Amino acid sequence: MSDPIKTDVLIIGAGPCGLFAVFELGLLDVRTHLVDILDKVGGQCAELYPEKPIYDIPGLPIVTGQGLTESLMKQIEPFKPTFHLGEMVEAIERIGDPEFRVTTDRDKVFEAKTIVIAAGGGSFQPKRLPVPGIDAYEGTSVFYAVRKMEEFRDKRLLIVGGGDSALDWTLNLQPIARSLTLLHRRDQFRAAPDSVNKMRALLAEGKIAFKLGQVTSLEGDEGVLQAANARPDKGDPYRIECDAMLPFFGLTMKLGPVANWGLNLANDLIPVDTESFETSVPGIFAIGDINTYPGKLKLILCGFHEAALMAQKACRYVFPDKRIVFQYTTSSTSLQKKLGVV
Ligand SMILES: Cc1cc2nc3c(=O)[nH]c(=O)nc-3n(C[C@H](O)[C@H](O)[C@H](O)COP(=O)(O)OP(=O)(O)OC[C@H]3O[C@@H](n4cnc5c(N)ncnc54)[C@H](O)[C@@H]3O)c2cc1C
Repeated sequence: MSDPIKTDVLIIGAGPCGLFAVFELGLLDVRTHLVDILDKVGGQCAELYPEKPIYDIPGLPIVTGQGLTESLMKQIEPFKPTFHLGEMVEAIERIGDPEFRVTTDRDKVFEAKTIVIAAGGGSFQPKRLPVPGIDAYEGTSVFYAVRKMEEFRDKRLLIVGGGDSALDWTLNLQPIARSLTLLHRRDQFRAAPDSVNKMRALLAEGKIAFKLGQVTSLEGDEGVLQAANARPDKGDPYRIECDAMLPFFGLTMKLGPVANWGLNLANDLIPVDTESFETSVPGIFAIGDINTYPGKLKLILCGFHEAALMAQKACRYVFPDKRIVFQYTTSSTSLQKKLGVV
């Protein structure tokens, strides 16, 4: 075990809500460290849909998942948060009133006056395709997320699935792929009707192929895929030549260690009060997708609001004697000094 790293607030999860929490806490002089299992910041935005446009961030008519992550990183720069990436928070122990000792799977120890859980769906993992030997191709020819579209340029692509991700990536990758086949069990889709219509238009124009069935085995060598064999519910098996396969079967949201932190849970979510987004344990807050309360919407903008209100109460734990004065960034010289703009 290393010497404890002391901080005012430890934020668990560096998704959009964890990142924005740094900003709101920073305006109140509260120092933060963040831990994330992923090797990069941005949570779902950076991991699952970095190049997809988001249209409902207030004031940003269109921004990609990665673009939003980069803007948030720029916005929190003045507060110099410390990131501990590629580490999972495993244990939380109460050592004061409030004060907590937090341990990661790499045996790093933090001592924090308060904790903000911004863990999204917990440790989220894409559902794997149950095909024998698929692990030999994962990361080289089989991908569960699109990190960089360019990597698929001029490739023969096989997209498997019938939900939003499968349809969205069919539409987005078709223009750059050498060929693209969409494979789904049924000729019915769970995706947005507009995406389904666009996909059917591409099919009618002969720009993509559509096959009914399920993948049964893969052919290739040393991680380089050559073809997938598939079978429909009725009819003969067939073979699809491809360089890369992208199965989109949704995510398994595994709550992971959060379940062992002594918090009240409801359907694997953390109930909070809507005044401060504090959990059943005083001093531990939960914001973003991980929390629940009447009317909760799993939207980034809701997590941002939660971060702002959380910061007011967290600040009172960190500086019990400080009088918190509500201020606008537009007019407060003190806030502008913290932001480094005056
Ligand atoms: C395809 C797709 C499209 C979407 N489009 C939109 C949209 O248009 N508009 C919108 O508002 N929302 C959209 N969303 C939802 C949005 O991405 C989420 O609401 C948002 O990411 C939640 O942010 P968060 O910070 O709470 O959690 P997340 O982004 O899930 O980040 C949580 C982070 O916590 C980490 N973590 C979890 N457990 C631990 C642990 N024990 N230790 C360390 N780290 C941990 C995870 O690794 C993760 O990086 C979309 C989601 C998807 C999948």
